[in-house]
Amino acid sequence: MRLHEAGALLAAECARYAAMGWMRGTSGNLSVVLSRDPLRLAVTASGLDKGEMTASDVAEIDASGAPVRPNQPTPSAEAGLHGRIASVSGAGAVVHVHALAPVLAAERWPNAVHLRNLEMLKGFGRKADDWVSIPVVQNSQDMTVLGDAFESGYRADTPALIVARHGLYVWGSDLYQARHRTECLEWLLRFIIET
Ligand SMILES: [Zn+2]
Repeated sequence: MRLHEAGALLAAECARYAAMGWMRGTSGNLSVVLSRDPLRLAVTASGLDKGEMTASDVAEIDASGAPVRPNQPTPSAEAGLHGRIASVSGAGAVVHVHALAPVLAAERWPNAVHLRNLEMLKGFGRKADDWVSIPVVQNSQDMTVLGDAFESGYRADTPALIVARHGLYVWGSDLYQARHRTECLEWLLRFIIET
């Protein structure tokens, strides 16, 4: 995939998430893998309103989150965690939103949020009666610290991570699978905190 094409896809996805209220202010960021070897990702640019993104509001980064092209927008400060997640999981797309439900759930269950016997788990890629534990890690401004915490709790069958007092990361083979998983998981987390 070329960078401009990726930028158009990311802008459209950002508009959807912004409309859901999950990218308030300029929060949240999305990425999609451009190439696997070496790993290159297109990630949304830093500091922009996610409801008003264009195909040019994108930066190309390497696995560490560092920009690889001159004269491009500044990548999101959280790009390093996107790179780490794509590298470890093999995902083709990573979604990071500042939805409220995951943060509330992490406040109540600070190590992991457990889900079971819920039909919407199928939309997350699991069986309805599976025991599913969404890992929770402490927030940090250091993407290496966050990346290490992610990797130590990583399970291939659980494509999500909650960062306490911060937000949610979900990944999938492409932006569409990641979106569907994000939508279903947000529903599941809202259910668990309201029951
Ligand atoms: Zn964030």
